[in-house]
Amino acid sequence: MKTLEQLTRKNVWQMKPYSSARDEYQGAKATVFLDANENPYNAPFNRYPDPRQWALKKEIARIKQVKPEQIFLGNGSDEAIDLPFRAFCQPGVDNVVAIDPTYGMYQVCAETNDVEYRKVKLDDQFQFTAVQLLQAADDHTKLIFLCSPNNPTGNDLHIDEIRQLLTRFEGLVIVDEAYIDFSDRTSFLAELERYPNLIVLQTFSKAWGSAAIRLGMAFASYEIIAILNKIKYPYNVNQLTQLEALRRVKQYDEVKLWVKMIKEERAQLMEEVAALPLTRQIFPTDANFFLVRVSDAVSIYHYLVEQGVIVRNRHSVTLCNNCLRITIGTPEENLQLLQALKQYGE
Ligand SMILES: *Cc1c(COP(=O)(O)O)cnc(C)c1O
Repeated sequence: MKTLEQLTRKNVWQMKPYSSARDEYQGAKATVFLDANENPYNAPFNRYPDPRQWALKKEIARIKQVKPEQIFLGNGSDEAIDLPFRAFCQPGVDNVVAIDPTYGMYQVCAETNDVEYRKVKLDDQFQFTAVQLLQAADDHTKLIFLCSPNNPTGNDLHIDEIRQLLTRFEGLVIVDEAYIDFSDRTSFLAELERYPNLIVLQTFSKAWGSAAIRLGMAFASYEIIAILNKIKYPYNVNQLTQLEALRRVKQYDEVKLWVKMIKEERAQLMEEVAALPLTRQIFPTDANFFLVRVSDAVSIYHYLVEQGVIVRNRHSVTLCNNCLRITIGTPEENLQLLQALKQYGE
């Protein structure tokens, strides 16, 4: 791996972060806060939230078995995807490499930041090799994006290839684990100590059932997290989100129950969809959705919309022609989907 100084944009490496009132006051017990030009009325929302979200990070660290200092919290994974571009990629000079197909936000952030986005097509099992990605990389490649379980394909990527890449790539490897709770494999969080160039992304939006509060997590070395903290908006995670996330992590058992129900429902729904006449191929999944190739994705998509059931049409995505991506819903919702599909073309 190159040094972090070599990987970080010079302006970012050298800058001093904005120091907020709440950053500067630390330690001594205080009851009178006259430092941040807040309104003394309208508690508790009159006060700026903790810019580093320590109470929440402590709880997350416990559940994820990492140190609070290895956690960055952002306004959705969106922020945790965007910040590495801003921290490490010189616009118009550096590039990133990613698998194709995958989650669309990596490319959107690359383009927003004027960073070249190099796609490497997956094979027909939706897998990649480290060698292929390394061949696409050059001396200006700062980041490689992996997503496992991958979206929209649903499958886990091969662990050995991910490890190869972590060992051999000189830059940072971002492994997006938004769907890890639905997979039987263990998270790359356990390997943070072994790979100093690893960034793992997770989110409150899927298994945690909290897409509305916008909370994304990045896990990495203290040094990488410190760089992300330096360039983030000071109060990037608002107080309502911090409070609700704290409430949610304290009810982690409920999350586990949801995951169990969704996985059971996934097995049943996939079996029934596989048996439909319109189904051509159903792909194995490790996420809370699955990809299915059908006779005519565009027409079936529009038919389902008319029935009030919305799925994701992935027909125009690489390797996904005539594919629909279907999220696992409640048993009632899944039944509605099935009934509609059974009546298609009648
Ligand atoms: C849904 C999803 C996310 C979550 O994004 P948030 O901004 O945290 O809601 C992240 N990565 C992938 C691959 C996803 O599919």
